[in-house]
Amino acid sequence: MDNCIFCKIIAGEIPSNKVYEDENMLAFRDINPQAKVHVLVVPKSHFATLAEMNGEQAELVKKCMEKIPHIAKSLGLEKGYRLIVNQGEDAGQTVHHLHIHILGGQSMGEKML
Ligand code: AMP
Ligand code: ZN
Repeated sequence: MDNCIFCKIIAGEIPSNKVYEDENMLAFRDINPQAKVHVLVVPKSHFATLAEMNGEQAELVKKCMEKIPHIAKSLGLEKGYRLIVNQGEDAGQTVHHLHIHILGGQSMGEKML
């Protein structure tokens, strides 16, 4: 998609601090980390939210979910991590290409926010 920053990162047009890549997804460090470890897992297909996702894209998200434990292990997150998927305005979604935040490297307590 034109003007999508994550499509540009996937295409290699904008640099990123990659931690994992395969044919289905790219994972890279968030530019504005909200935890000691903050990585974004981005499927290699442009859609903004789960509501807009088609069947093929759902397969990509499934593959992302299956890969996340391996990515987390490679990041040293043996003690756990939090996943966040912001959907739309009230969630504060700023990049309209679906992405899964991996947050960890520190205790985040029991509260979600
Ligand atoms: P969200 O608020 O869920 O849409 O999250 C978008 C995330 O993308 C934010 O945490 C931003 O810090 C992050 N972000 C935006 N641009 C970049 C970039 N060029 N490289 C890495 N992370 C980015
Ligand atoms: Zn995109």
